[in-house]
Amino acid sequence: MIRALFPGTFDPVHMGHIDIAERAAKLFSKLTVAVYDKPLKSLLLSPEERLYLTRESLKHIENIEVTGYSGLTVEYARKINAQVIVRGLRVFSDFEHEFRMTLANHHLAPDIEVVAFITSDRYTFLSSTTVREIASLGGNIEGMVPKIVQEVLRKRFFELGENQTIVPLNYLRD
Ligand code: ADP
Repeated sequence: MIRALFPGTFDPVHMGHIDIAERAAKLFSKLTVAVYDKPLKSLLLSPEERLYLTRESLKHIENIEVTGYSGLTVEYARKINAQVIVRGLRVFSDFEHEFRMTLANHHLAPDIEVVAFITSDRYTFLSSTTVREIASLGGNIEGMVPKIVQEVLRKRFFELGENQTIVPLNYLRD
């Protein structure tokens, strides 16, 4: 029985994340999708909102649980007895970032393996940054995120009005 951890910021969760979670859940007996509390990123959604939306978006998968976490990912993996960390790869720029993180994590915890899933081709372009930028400009994000995420983003950008900070769309990695 292999237990896996899929950590991320999920600001917001999108179809690319859901696709990776669905595929990983088929491979491992239990998958914990863990929403990071305080990443070094400026975020649109609070930890509670990200947790709620991620949980709602994955509730159709029986062997998935969604939790929040803070601190080192490998420490959290140990705490929940996960032997594997799951990540997703889209473009080459992802690879460099994930490669460095994997080596660092392996240095900290040689007993925990990192398994990277290659994105499904229909989601290669998809990142949380892309979703936020399109939504902030009033564009249609149907098919990129679940309905509940669409609604929350529409409401959030309506509330922000002119005060929103538009994240530049420089690359597909968050
Ligand atoms: P983090 O801040 O940890 O990178 P993200 O929420 O941005 O958190 O991403 C979590 C994981 O999901 C990362 O491994 C990222 O590469 C992966 N991911 C993001 N978008 C996609 C996508 N469209 N297809 C496959 N994997 C993706």
